[in-house]
Amino acid sequence: MKFTRFTVDSNEYTGVIVDEVIREIKGDIFTDWDYTGKVFSKSEVKLLAPLAPNQIIGIGANYVATTDDLPSELPEIPVFFFKPTSSVIGPEDDIVIPSGCDTVKFESELAVIIGKEAKNISEADVFDYVFGYTVGNDVTAPAFFHEAGHWTIGKSFDTFTPLGPFIETEMNPLDIRVKARLNGEEKQNSGPELMIISTQKMVSYLSHVMTLKPGDVILTGSPVGAEFVHAGDVIECEIEEIGTLKNPFVKVTVSVER
Ligand code: MG
Repeated sequence: MKFTRFTVDSNEYTGVIVDEVIREIKGDIFTDWDYTGKVFSKSEVKLLAPLAPNQIIGIGANYVATTDDLPSELPEIPVFFFKPTSSVIGPEDDIVIPSGCDTVKFESELAVIIGKEAKNISEADVFDYVFGYTVGNDVTAPAFFHEAGHWTIGKSFDTFTPLGPFIETEMNPLDIRVKARLNGEEKQNSGPELMIISTQKMVSYLSHVMTLKPGDVILTGSPVGAEFVHAGDVIECEIEEIGTLKNPFVKVTVSVER
């Protein structure tokens, strides 16, 4: 099933894609919802990010180029970071390059959406706690990485977390390709066999640190091939089973006081 959020005439709706139309639903997508009977055509809606996340957690440098490059030992403490929920935007929205840098990086990623409270869960049980998946773009401004190694500022600007276009609840995350096209040219295209820390390991590990809640979004890392981009570039992040998340980059028009 494919869940979506969208606006029509500045009214906000939640819906499910059924064939070529969107059927409006009411309620909590994680627990209890129902159809309202209202139906929209895809062409009349403006898609939003498919959920307002509870928290957003990312993992650093999680893909290798070939399986030969996979490390024989996993890191004892993986590199995780938080992104603010205020950085979320939807399909087609502008990614704003902040003042203080001319270029940022795109990072196409599988985004896991937690559906049930999860604490101390085993790797084998992880998928029982997952509601679905969307595509995430973990936009990053390395110019704002702190020299002491903290990434928070460089990951946190408004518009730095595009999500969408839909939440797919019925796909197998172990049989996908995570892709990105920059101005139409393919830059990323990798499968989960190239992940250093698997989705199951990642979610299980995090659940032993913090209680994961419905609506938590975990960005599972970006394949090799992420590049610097400039204003005027257009990025399409794609996982075929979910859809394509397309956003243009623009330069900020107001300067940020520092
Ligand atoms: Mg990333």
